Amino acid sequence: MINRNPCIRNIKAGYLFPEIAKRRREFAAAHPDAKIISLGVGNTTEPIPPYIDRGLVEGARKLGTVEGYSGYSDEGLLALRQRISEVFYQGDFAGDEIFVSDGAKCDIGRLQLLFGAGIPVAVQDPSYPVYVDGSVLTGAAGPWSGTGYEGITYLPCTGENDFFPDLSLLPAQGLIYFCSPNNPTGAAANREQLTALVTAALNKGSLIIFDAAYSEYIRDPKLPKSIFEIQGARTCAIEVNSFSKPAGFTGVRLGWTVVPQELMYAGGERVNADWARVCGTIFNGASNISQAGGLAALEPEGLKEIRELSDFYLGNAKLIRSALQELGITCVGGGNSPYIWAHFPGRDSWEVFGDILERCQVLTTPGSGFGPAGRSFIRFSAFGHRQDVEEACKRLGTLGRG
Ligand code: PLP
Repeated sequence: MINRNPCIRNIKAGYLFPEIAKRRREFAAAHPDAKIISLGVGNTTEPIPPYIDRGLVEGARKLGTVEGYSGYSDEGLLALRQRISEVFYQGDFAGDEIFVSDGAKCDIGRLQLLFGAGIPVAVQDPSYPVYVDGSVLTGAAGPWSGTGYEGITYLPCTGENDFFPDLSLLPAQGLIYFCSPNNPTGAAANREQLTALVTAALNKGSLIIFDAAYSEYIRDPKLPKSIFEIQGARTCAIEVNSFSKPAGFTGVRLGWTVVPQELMYAGGERVNADWARVCGTIFNGASNISQAGGLAALEPEGLKEIRELSDFYLGNAKLIRSALQELGITCVGGGNSPYIWAHFPGRDSWEVFGDILERCQVLTTPGSGFGPAGRSFIRFSAFGHRQDVEEACKRLGTLGRG
């Protein structure tokens, strides 16, 4: 038989979420009457708001007419790319610098093809697991050494450094994955911090892949929503973003990636041209129905709905954070992001996860699944129906009883 790709062997057993799902199944089998509430995953729970939904329906309906039918749209509908530029970047990017995708995760995976197996990779520790696991799949990292993957520079983000890494650890001529507001910590980097990041990347000849999937949750007007608000970023950064978390498109699938024309490799070639080539080769564009929904989402009525939907989840985050703080648990996040990162000093996160599941029948995410620095943290997600979140908060109160 054919040989297995050795990079796949390097992936540590059990991607975080399948492992959590397995433990949930085991718990449910042992406690058939338990009513488990999930504050674990980052999947959205509320219906797509009506104006945006009508955009999707209308997009589907048009496909059944001769005049409205469309096929492949490669980098995305020009109208959508231009609207993304207007809404999120003050019109600073041309249509050919914005590539519409089937989601940020898919683009993060495809972006790794631009840099190949030999590239040093740095990630915030903790971070969204796709940066690391995707790097292992392309051969840029791995195998697992017991504490982390070889080839990955883990940049600890803890209470001691205000959840912003020590930039002197950055590799030269490497890829830096940076997510703000961060999944899982919920911390959002300020302008000074992002300016320092861009300066460090330029000095090191490294490239930032900036994941802004939660930018629409930022409420503090002083916090940057995009890396391109920072001077110099056009020559050292790519930004990925998504309609998933602001508009409830986790199942619809729609995102975008910005690759400025000024961004060059060490040899002087344009990264934008290569990204167009990669997308044209292995991706035939996002669904035209999703794009019709995306266009509706970026009209004034759609933007209002996005604001209301993200406000709703932020309301959940506030409840969870207050419930934890009442127990004396130190936590960050939740103010400008849908995640709360709670500290359980001296304890192992899988043990705390098991304890909360056992005593409260609430599902969370153990911090160690996001990197070594998460070992004594738990991530609480604010994606849930209000009634469930309120009930979960009530049950969490029992943790204070020893
Ligand atoms: N980036 C981050 C930081 C995420 O947390 C997620 C999903 O949880 C994604 C990207 C995935 O986005 P999409 O649904 O657009 O693939």
